Amino acid sequence: MSDPIIIIGAGPAGLSTAYKILKESGKKVVVIDKAPAVGGAGASFKWKGNILDYGPHAFHTRGDKAEQLIRSLFKDDKESLLEGRKNVYVYLKNKKFKYPLQVSEALLKFNPFLSIKIISEFILTSIFHAIVSIPIDSFENWGRKRFGATLYRMSFGDYTEKVWKTKAAKISEKFASEKIQGFNFIDLIKRLLKVGGQVTDEPYFQTWIYHKYGSGELFKRMSEKVTGMGGEILLNTSIKSVELKDHNIQSVTISDKEDNLTKVPCGYLVNTIPLPQFIGLFNNELPFILRHSASKLSYISLIVVYIEFNIEKISDSSWFYLLDKHFKFNRVTEQKNLSPFTIEDGKTILSFELTCREGDEFWQLSDEELFAIAKEDCKKIDFIDLDNISDFIVKRVPDAYEMYYKNFDKHADLIFSYLRELKNCVSIGRRGLFLQGDMHQSVAMGLHMGEILADENPGNKNVQEFYSKYLKYIE
Ligand SMILES: Cc1cc2nc3c(=O)[nH]c(=O)nc-3n(C[C@H](O)[C@H](O)[C@H](O)COP(=O)(O)OP(=O)(O)OC[C@H]3O[C@@H](n4cnc5c(N)ncnc54)[C@H](O)[C@@H]3O)c2cc1C
Repeated sequence: MSDPIIIIGAGPAGLSTAYKILKESGKKVVVIDKAPAVGGAGASFKWKGNILDYGPHAFHTRGDKAEQLIRSLFKDDKESLLEGRKNVYVYLKNKKFKYPLQVSEALLKFNPFLSIKIISEFILTSIFHAIVSIPIDSFENWGRKRFGATLYRMSFGDYTEKVWKTKAAKISEKFASEKIQGFNFIDLIKRLLKVGGQVTDEPYFQTWIYHKYGSGELFKRMSEKVTGMGGEILLNTSIKSVELKDHNIQSVTISDKEDNLTKVPCGYLVNTIPLPQFIGLFNNELPFILRHSASKLSYISLIVVYIEFNIEKISDSSWFYLLDKHFKFNRVTEQKNLSPFTIEDGKTILSFELTCREGDEFWQLSDEELFAIAKEDCKKIDFIDLDNISDFIVKRVPDAYEMYYKNFDKHADLIFSYLRELKNCVSIGRRGLFLQGDMHQSVAMGLHMGEILADENPGNKNVQEFYSKYLKYIE
């Protein structure tokens, strides 16, 4: 029998790759994950009578192959998949705003002096930029040019610096143009004067499916199908190194929980773990410049404080963003509004997300200290009653979000120009491509790559096309 296809990572991307290969071929597949459970960032965990996700994890629906796969996994149990529309908002200056923040709505709700200041700044900034050509080379430049200083700061400048724990001037303008909606000034004036004007199109995915017992169930089911078709999933198993010869991966070295090392022959390698970590597996076999570029790709980590309240419900929305500078936390989720079956009767849980760097002063705080900070934020939210708090738990998620520093794409491009030359290796998924994508995108990539690898002769051309299709940091 030929050497197996090895997939590193049993998250959405890795599992869906394995699923597709096994469904369409008799090839041998081994999936390796260092975690004790499948699902990657989309996994769930149990706490008392509750099932909790690591931050909100609704599966966005677009009628594509990824959605079809998820639905087909539950065709014998359709009612376990709940469906809904995104119900999220922005909490700013003690008011709720539609998410993403619509400039016209904000101006209508702010006090008139602030609105006039924002509009005048916008006009002056537009005139200035029409006369003077300034290179737009950072998130901050991009935002100030489009919105004027005050609106830029209030609506997403401060928030971005809070989330990324870095100055917006150091963040790539590509991140801004991907995440933030522009606005049409004429439309805005029409809306303010109430003579028409359109609400800006909704840019984000609005509909979702969610398993009644948490996001992780999707991937548990997927993993059962993988093993049912003969695939092997090794959990609690880390990949330590890959052995390369003439642009071919010969084998990978893995270690179990007790640090026992095993060398496994490798027919084809699919990576879904963070790109810089993957590059590290080649040890010093890669040119210095590649290792240098990998060291320039970094992540921000996440702390989630889950607070239990002795009350049926606090709000009707799935989650909301804390935009004001005085909040330490970034986002609050009431998971019960995705599925009431995940939370014990008579209770609700709000999860507070805070980004930080692994090892920094937040990361090192005790659970009690983090809970205390979350309670301080609760006090500033007028519809939360601290007297109802009954318990809490804290989770830390290293390397949760890719950091889009200026020039990150140049470093990533360099790494991919090398990886593209390898004959039996591909890097995919959110982590593997250093993309800030969602679960459905990782599943779509997995299915696509699975289809390529199921073929008797996968062909390098198909892999190159795969990279060209997904390796876009901005569309
Ligand atoms: C707070 C938060 C909220 C989110 N909300 C949503 C949402 O609402 N909807 C949505 O669609 N997406 C959401 N996402 C994004 C979603 O989690 C990711 O898109 C998705 O999990 C990416 O899947 P993946 O398989 O590419 O990577 P991952 O899920 O990260 O899987 C990678 C796997 O590799 C394993 N691994 C890492 N290193 C090693 C190693 N050395 N050896 C072996 N295994 C290793 C990990 O344990 C993990 O299982 C959210 C993400 C975060 C952080």
